[in-house]
Amino acid sequence: MMIKKLHDLYFKELVSKEEISKIVKTLAYQVKQDLPKDEKPLFVGILNGCFMFAADFLRAYNGDCEISFVKLASYEGTNSSESVKKLIGINEDISDRTVIILEDIIDTGTTLQEIYEIFRTKNIKELKIVSLFFKPDVYRKELHINYIGKNIEDKFIVGYGLDYDGLGRNLNSIYQLTTQPKMKNIVLFGPPGAGKGTQATLLKEKYDLVHISTGDVFRFNIKNETELGVLAKKYIDAGDLVPDEVTINMLKEEVNKNPEAKGFIFDGFPRTESQAKALDSFLAEKSERINGMVALEVPEDLLVARILERGKTSGRSDDTDEEKIRNRFNEYNTKTAILKDFYEAKGNYYGVDGVGAIEEITDRLSKVFDTL
Ligand code: AMP
Repeated sequence: MMIKKLHDLYFKELVSKEEISKIVKTLAYQVKQDLPKDEKPLFVGILNGCFMFAADFLRAYNGDCEISFVKLASYEGTNSSESVKKLIGINEDISDRTVIILEDIIDTGTTLQEIYEIFRTKNIKELKIVSLFFKPDVYRKELHINYIGKNIEDKFIVGYGLDYDGLGRNLNSIYQLTTQPKMKNIVLFGPPGAGKGTQATLLKEKYDLVHISTGDVFRFNIKNETELGVLAKKYIDAGDLVPDEVTINMLKEEVNKNPEAKGFIFDGFPRTESQAKALDSFLAEKSERINGMVALEVPEDLLVARILERGKTSGRSDDTDEEKIRNRFNEYNTKTAILKDFYEAKGNYYGVDGVGAIEEITDRLSKVFDTL
């Protein structure tokens, strides 16, 4: 999910540009349908926020029409206690016209009510209101809104013409205010035997993070003969990847078990592109993100020897048989290695030399962790 920073605040995508486009087209179609065949309505956009909506709405409106824009301005009255509202922009004679107001968003309805009162004095034939977004929970007026694009909850939104302190109007989608990420979430990456588990155990202490090794969780479940363990066993024994759906659900559960965590070290996850995408959207729902993928880079021939050595004591069925080890590398090279590109494209990939003494490698990793 996309996160944007405007001034000091973070926003996450709420309505995609495709969805907006559908909504706008539907509104334009409905408005046209409900008008007498030869009616030439005067659309009135309420500036500033509506300019994008008005432009797209008009392009989607299939019939003769006019458009004008107004702005609501407050003036101090001569009597300093009263504030007078005035519409700037409407100079033409609009009597006997069908006027259709285009609003980007209606929340309490105060502004809309004021605009409505002003138009009511102008002897028009009919006045209708179209609003792209509407916040039903905070609307306080009786005034009927004829067309609503989408109801949204009462959270601050930006994009598609709407701004936060001047910024964000040029965004193509609608973004909703979110809280700033608080966690440090790191994907510790590397081929089988690269030392991810060893390093994660050291780094989680140092940085006060929760370490989730999907391999360890699977092995724990196998040992305890849980349903998940029984399911995963045949894949793991063969050195195959466990199916994404199973792994993703398990990972979410592990994360949710630690609501107080300051962050996570993900070890052995994600291993496929769909896992990586699922992780991104899962974290985005929590207003969090992956700070970086830190990869241990070790040549493959060194790794097989390391795994066979580990197999003497690890008790892992997939560590002793060279054919299974080869299959794990095959899975890694065909499904997992591409994740480097996935994170690199976001400027989030950090490669670290994984050859050397354990402490040396911890130092190298720490240098990267410190910057994330
Ligand atoms: P590991 O301990 O990370 O080497 O994982 C051991 C085995 O668990 C792998 O060979 C897979 O069979 C399974 N596994 C662990 N993590 C995942 C994952 N993210 N996706 C699919 N299978 C996994």
